[in-house]
Amino acid sequence: MQLQVLLVAGTHGNEINGIWLFDEWNKSSFLINTHGIKTCNVIGNPDAKKAGKRYIHNDLNRSFQEESFLSINSSNCESARANELVNLYGEAGENPCQIALDFHTTTASMGSCLVVYGRRNADLALASLIQNQLGLPIYLHESDQKQTGFLVESWPCGLVVEIGPIGQGLLNSRIISQTKLILESLMEQIYKVKNVNQFFPNKLIIHRHIKSIDFPRDEEGNIDGYLHSQRQSKDWQELKKNDELFCKLNGEIIRFEEDETYIPVFINEAAYVEKNIAMSFTKRELWNLKKEWKQSLIDLIHQK
Ligand SMILES: [Zn+2]
Repeated sequence: MQLQVLLVAGTHGNEINGIWLFDEWNKSSFLINTHGIKTCNVIGNPDAKKAGKRYIHNDLNRSFQEESFLSINSSNCESARANELVNLYGEAGENPCQIALDFHTTTASMGSCLVVYGRRNADLALASLIQNQLGLPIYLHESDQKQTGFLVESWPCGLVVEIGPIGQGLLNSRIISQTKLILESLMEQIYKVKNVNQFFPNKLIIHRHIKSIDFPRDEEGNIDGYLHSQRQSKDWQELKKNDELFCKLNGEIIRFEEDETYIPVFINEAAYVEKNIAMSFTKRELWNLKKEWKQSLIDLIHQK
């Protein structure tokens, strides 16, 4: 079977820069250099895109759950779409893809980063190649029972690309050109693993998810505080004991009280307010690249 890569933009219908790039690419096939690797480009959630919303019924990027595949609820736009995407492009689908790359944007000041879900060998190997080439941070999302069912988890290998900061529903030249650059870099690395004896780095830097925290709330559960100016837009910057987190409307400052230091990410991400997430905490770690990660990616790309 021939290697095919699934490229997804607009998994969230109001993250429109990737959608715009894909639309332009459809008009002019030379716009993106895929280095000869076959791709399927799809809009993740076209109904939500039309409505100008993140989703219609449920977050599509939390809808790739075993349960939703078992009990197809066709009245739910996103579980139907998750099923459809797996049936069309899944490993055993009509038009099978082995790798899924899912392009998102964030309102947080995170620049560009890669998100990997769990510790899958091929994901970590591919992420290490991109980190080595472009220097992007890697956010390892794991051990979060409240956040599951991510699209890329339904493919043998998959990464999310997050690019920010950008408001929802807005086009921005920097975001579009960074999406294009990272997409082309991913295709170049996949091409090299397929066709030349690609060099893998020995180490990679991981930002390992620890937990997320909520906004301050009153007795009725309403948010009664906002990000402190010292914390706003300070993604990837160390948070230590006594550092400012939030201001309450009465002027009170809420500080970080743990002895551990963390690296916060997704600070004040607009889409996470409904998930009761004001920011997530990570630990920055230097990991050795394992031989089996590299082998897993090589085997997948060579279809062994
Ligand atoms: Zn998104």
